[in-house]
Amino acid sequence: MSDLKKEIQETGFTGEIDDTQATREFYSHDASMFEIIPKVVVMPKTAKDVQTLVQYVTKHKAKQPSLSLTARSAGTDMSGAAINDSIIVDFNKHLTAAIKIDSKRAIVQPGMFFRDFDKETAKHGALLPSYPASRDLASVGGMVNNNSGGEKSLEYGKTEKYVKELKFVFADGIERVVKPLNRKQLILKMAQKDFEGKVYRELFELIEANYDEIKAARPNVSKNSTGYNLWNVWDRRTGIFDLTQVIVGAQGTLGFVTEAEFELVDRPEHSGLLVLFLRDVGDLGELIPAVLKHKPASFEGFDDATLIMIMKFMFSFLKMLGLKRFLHLIIGLIPDGLQLLKGIPKMVLMIEFNGHSEDEVRKKVHDLHKTLGKYRARYEINGFEETPNEYKSEKFWIMRRYSFQLLRSKVKDKHTAPFIDDLVVNPEYLAEFLPKIRKIVKKYNLLATVQGHMGDGNFHIIPLMKLEDKRDRKKILPAMREVNELVLKYGGSLSGEHNDGLVRGPWLEQMYGKEIVKLFRETKDIFDPEHIFNPHKKADATWSYSFSHIRDKF
Ligand SMILES: Cc1cc2nc3c(=O)[nH]c(=O)nc-3n(C[C@H](O)[C@H](O)[C@H](O)COP(=O)(O)OP(=O)(O)OC[C@H]3O[C@@H](n4cnc5c(N)ncnc54)[C@H](O)[C@@H]3O)c2cc1C
Repeated sequence: MSDLKKEIQETGFTGEIDDTQATREFYSHDASMFEIIPKVVVMPKTAKDVQTLVQYVTKHKAKQPSLSLTARSAGTDMSGAAINDSIIVDFNKHLTAAIKIDSKRAIVQPGMFFRDFDKETAKHGALLPSYPASRDLASVGGMVNNNSGGEKSLEYGKTEKYVKELKFVFADGIERVVKPLNRKQLILKMAQKDFEGKVYRELFELIEANYDEIKAARPNVSKNSTGYNLWNVWDRRTGIFDLTQVIVGAQGTLGFVTEAEFELVDRPEHSGLLVLFLRDVGDLGELIPAVLKHKPASFEGFDDATLIMIMKFMFSFLKMLGLKRFLHLIIGLIPDGLQLLKGIPKMVLMIEFNGHSEDEVRKKVHDLHKTLGKYRARYEINGFEETPNEYKSEKFWIMRRYSFQLLRSKVKDKHTAPFIDDLVVNPEYLAEFLPKIRKIVKKYNLLATVQGHMGDGNFHIIPLMKLEDKRDRKKILPAMREVNELVLKYGGSLSGEHNDGLVRGPWLEQMYGKEIVKLFRETKDIFDPEHIFNPHKKADATWSYSFSHIRDKF
């Protein structure tokens, strides 16, 4: 038994502590292109266990500087933020309970899978609408800490909008409730002599002293998961100081979430899709604003490379979906398969509408079809398809949601390399921007699939590479630099939802400038003075560290 395992056992920690080779290897990966082997993996049973761990590390950090704690819920992070080299704290084993759910609010532990949470909220006709495409794999804790968004963010926004209260273990090892405070409550909080009082005081002073710069630093896009959300914390006009907002999206670099209270929305009663098979991606720039005028609930898409890969590995869906849903998928796709004989569209676009009845949805879908029909000769390759209810739409949603998972598990000679996987630019620039991105992808000869949230201008470009091959690895830095420069030239964000982690943390200065990144670092120091939480991520990331941990064994 390692000393570390023994020492953690002696603290009274009641969960599992596992330092076997197999477990450490399993936890050395998330869904990113990185690999870091931890010393030990622990699975807390209670919030008290989480506090015990934080107190243990705080106590020993001075003598053992390499000690740290990295939270992990379902481990589907694409930025490399759920892996590290010291202690991994797995919330997905025991801290998985729904504590209270009604039609308006839900209180839940972070390790609960979204898919289980969703079944519970559905019983109340309610929905947490900021779920990611990884909805069947991810947990609510990961959603909070990445500030996730997804197919419904166009209409409903991201997770930051739905977090109302958190239970949070601070760096002094004490769990406290974090929620929005009015001026009077804030003054009382800042007067406290303990660590919590110090955090409120110092963060308030930091934001107040740099108020205009911080507000101006907010990226001008509909969704952003980079940096710390300082612009959402303090509002002089309303007098509300909301600490939850800097924790949301912080990737566990400021402390640990042990419970989250969400506001829920009414689950849409009916929804349906207009599906458009696009002949020329160059038309997207003009098409996106035309579609957005109709105010769809979602506007998603995937490219021909994704479609071909889905067709090739169609039988893998059997394992992922089970027989009944698989048969539904296959039967539903027969007409589309026949249409594909005429040619493969460059992009499949899915435009979703909600309504109180199927007829209302059918009308919205049909109206858009009629409007876009004007452009038929240019956009259409195999026609439009109207799927005015959830049952008929499901085949497209399955393809959209599962495609990245399929890429990861099925393409054996190459590996997914998410490093330009989440860029966002304002849709008004897409006509100019997209051809330029395509040029860069071509210049570096990147074999990439493209999926995305078209309505938000948020694109997931996932190259497939031989990461173990030096020639392929050498492309990453220059390709990333060019893509990032282009995104920033158009006033975009490097990440709409997947967050910074190892992959984008080193680029924060390029995106925000030195002064704002200095404020991010000061924020980290206020919450985590000894840097015990998730080192090498976000504002603490450096490209040399990240690059040296790109995975080279498969
Ligand atoms: C196929 C696929 C599709 C995806 N699509 C999307 C998408 O559409 N939108 C999107 O936003 N993301 C997407 N992602 C990325 C990822 O799935 C989401 O961000 C998801 O919300 C992460 O949840 P998780 O439970 O796996 O988190 P993890 O990977 O376990 O953790 C994510 C981050 O949160 C921190 N964290 C976890 N639990 C806690 C806690 N209790 N306290 C403090 N910090 C904590 C971790 O340290 C890490 O930094 C996708 C990933 C995959 C594999």
